[in-house]
Amino acid sequence: MIIVMKPGAADSSIKAVVNYIESNGLTVHLSKGEEVTIIGAVGDKTRLSPENLTVYKDVDRIVPVTESYKLANKKFHPEPTQVKVGNAFIGPDTFAIMAGPCAVETEEQLMCIARAVKSSGASILRGGAYKPRTSPYSFQGLEEEGLRYMKRASEETGLATICEVVSQEAIEAAVKYVDMIQIGARNMQNFILLKEAGRSGLPVLLKRGLCSTIDEWLNAAEYIMSEGNPNVVLCERGIRTFETATRNTLDISAIPVLKEKTHLPVIVDPSHSTGAYKYVPSMAKAAAACGADGLMIEVHNDPAHALSDGPQSLTFEHFDRLTRELAPFCNIVGRNFRIPSEGETAL
Ligand code: PEP
Ligand code: MN
Repeated sequence: MIIVMKPGAADSSIKAVVNYIESNGLTVHLSKGEEVTIIGAVGDKTRLSPENLTVYKDVDRIVPVTESYKLANKKFHPEPTQVKVGNAFIGPDTFAIMAGPCAVETEEQLMCIARAVKSSGASILRGGAYKPRTSPYSFQGLEEEGLRYMKRASEETGLATICEVVSQEAIEAAVKYVDMIQIGARNMQNFILLKEAGRSGLPVLLKRGLCSTIDEWLNAAEYIMSEGNPNVVLCERGIRTFETATRNTLDISAIPVLKEKTHLPVIVDPSHSTGAYKYVPSMAKAAAACGADGLMIEVHNDPAHALSDGPQSLTFEHFDRLTRELAPFCNIVGRNFRIPSEGETAL
C-alpha cells in the first residue's frame, strides 16, 4: 500500500508513519515530490492496519497497490526516473541513443563504429561480448577481451558503454569494463541472474522476453530493484506473434502502457524487433513520437560480413541519416536530442 501525506507534511509526521511501518516488519520506500511525500510500504501488508495509519498526523489517504510489483510501480514513485550511465542520461527529458554492433568482433571494428555512432549523436556504445545465439555453432562472442575493447572505445570517445551479461561470471567481468549491463530477452525471467544484476551496482537494461507480458516484465524489473538497484531501464524489442514478415512484432503500444504503470525509462530496439535494416528508421521515429526515452540500434561498418545480425544492422550512412531525421520527432515531444556539429570530434 502507499500512504499519501498531505502537502507540506512535517518531517516528524513522515518519520512517525515510517516508524510504524518498519516496526511491523515492512520496508519503506520514500518518494518526496515538490509538494507531496508518498510513503510506500513493501512486504506483508496484512501486518499493517489502514485504519491505524489514517489517524497519524498529516496522512492524507491510503491507497492499496494491487500490482505485485511495487518499487517499479508508478504509484510508489510518481516522478519519472532518470538513469545515469557513464556520462549519459536516460529519461525523462533526453532522448538517449545506444548504438553499435550486435557483437564486438575486433578492436579496430569497435573503434571505428564507436567514432561513427558518436558523430551521429549516440551517447552510449552497445556491443555484445557474450552472445546468446540460437545455434551453439554461431559466433558466441569475445567475452572478456571484447569487454576490454569496449573500455578502450569509451576511453577514446567518451561514450558510455553497455554489454549483455548471461551469467554471474559475465557480470563480474562487466563491472570492471562497462557502464551498464543488459539482460537480454532470453534471460528476462532468469530470476537468479536478475538478482545478481541487482547486486552488481551497475545500471541495468532489461529487455522484454520474447513471449512476456508487460506485467511479467515489470515483475522482472522488481527482482532487480528489490536487490537495492533503482537504476533499471526497460527495452521493448519485439515479441513473438503469428506474423513472420518481421523477425518479431514491435509492440509500440507497450510504450504508453509502461508510461502509465511505471516510472522507469523505456527505450525501443527497432533492430531486433524488425530484423531488417530497412524497417529500422520508421520504427525508430514511431518510438520517439510516442514517448520512448531512447533507442538501441545495431550499427556495423560492414553489415554484409557481420558475425551476428548483419541483415538488421545499419551502415554508418544509414545511421547518420536516421538520427538527423529523428531529431524533429524528439523535439516535438519535448526531448533533448543533439547531433554533434561538424567540428566536434571524439574526445
Ligand atoms: C542483443 O541486444 O544483442 C540481443 C541479443 O537482443 P535480444 O535479447 O533483444 O534478442
Ligand atoms: Mn543482435
